[in-house]
Amino acid sequence: MTSNAELHDAAQQLMPGGVNSPVRAFGSVGGTPVQMVSGRGPYLTDAEGNQYVDLVGSWGPALLGHRHPAVIDAVHSAVDAGLGFGTSHPSEARLAELVRGRVPGAEMIRMVSTGTEATMTAVRLARGATGKNIVVKFAGCYHGHSDGLLAAAGSGVATLGLPGSAGVTQAQASETIVIEYNDRAALEQVFAEHGENIAAVITEATPANMGVVPPEEGFNALIREITTRHGALMIFDEVMTGFRITDAGYWGASGREEGWEPDLFTFGKVIGGGMPTAALAGRREVMEHLAPTGPVYHAGTLSGNPVAMAAGVATLENATAEVYSHIDEKAQVVADALASALNEAGVDHTIQKVGSLFSVAFGTGPQGTGTGVHNYAQAGAQETFRFGPFFHSMLEQGVYLPPSVFEAWFLSGAHDDDAVGTILDALPAAARAAAQ
Ligand code: PLP
Repeated sequence: MTSNAELHDAAQQLMPGGVNSPVRAFGSVGGTPVQMVSGRGPYLTDAEGNQYVDLVGSWGPALLGHRHPAVIDAVHSAVDAGLGFGTSHPSEARLAELVRGRVPGAEMIRMVSTGTEATMTAVRLARGATGKNIVVKFAGCYHGHSDGLLAAAGSGVATLGLPGSAGVTQAQASETIVIEYNDRAALEQVFAEHGENIAAVITEATPANMGVVPPEEGFNALIREITTRHGALMIFDEVMTGFRITDAGYWGASGREEGWEPDLFTFGKVIGGGMPTAALAGRREVMEHLAPTGPVYHAGTLSGNPVAMAAGVATLENATAEVYSHIDEKAQVVADALASALNEAGVDHTIQKVGSLFSVAFGTGPQGTGTGVHNYAQAGAQETFRFGPFFHSMLEQGVYLPPSVFEAWFLSGAHDDDAVGTILDALPAAARAAAQ
């Protein structure tokens, strides 16, 4: 049997860092990345035959767990009919209908292949529809890796401690203004100075790429109000939260605050059920600026691929209220146990949580008394060094966490009492490892 280490060594000869996406490289936690070869329900199995309870969930898509029978059957049927036709086909509209049924503001939808493509296209659309150039984003929010959105981005950019990316020109960066998250005064200020030229504010519905950072009460509504006042669009990036966070329904985070809708949404992860699909969606009047009805170009050989559509349709059809309440309940159990274990070990921390999405921030004050993390500056100031030992202790005990303190933990409808029990059993030793 080839070991994880041998596979990783061989991969490093062929691929930069041995990976196809940076956070998989274990850069911030050290050690050898695990090479997974199969998944079932809440479990992953690596190349050496070790089994782990999975809290990465393919970085979000695995809402129903791995190899959910309905999703696998749907994919098999789609494959049997052909891998793609390069034409429209009925399951595109079926997935669009499912999205619109749960997100009233998603009046029209364009399928794309990745979250990056969704946000990149949403920004182009906002510029094309408004005739303005500047995009405002928040530090620590990650919207994929298109040039203009990489400034002060979360996720792997935060994990690697990068300000942005080499290769992004000054001209591209100059049309993105970055301000701190949850900073109302900065938002007002940026519109006071540049309001006439701002095409859009893009925000994660609930940031979860600098760890989870809840929007302060009314912050999203303020973005809505101020963009409307200045004729800019509001782009609500729900690639991570869409069809996962369920505080007020099935649809993501937008429904949590009533009385307003963003102009544009982006979705990804769960809507593809594990296949490469994402989408942008929004008001008909804005979406019709997209080609072929309008002048803003977007196209894709694999957009709306039938196999990916089949996985997405089966996932959303099986994402029932019971599944969401199961995930919410299990997330609460794990988050509570995490807090208790860290308190017991004397590790200052906060559990950053919105709905079933949560992460831990170290050194932010004892649970229940610390004020937690509200923006990227605070996220970066935490005791990140505690996460590596914590992560490796969990891994040794058979729990696969996202290999970065800045990433959210993902539970699924398949995380049953056994799987959750394994997590709970592992937490005390991991908390002690974090204490050192
Ligand atoms: N937007 C958000 C909020 C994300 O979390 C991500 C990925 O994690 C993206 C966009 C980019 O999606 P993708 O990795 O599919 O390009």
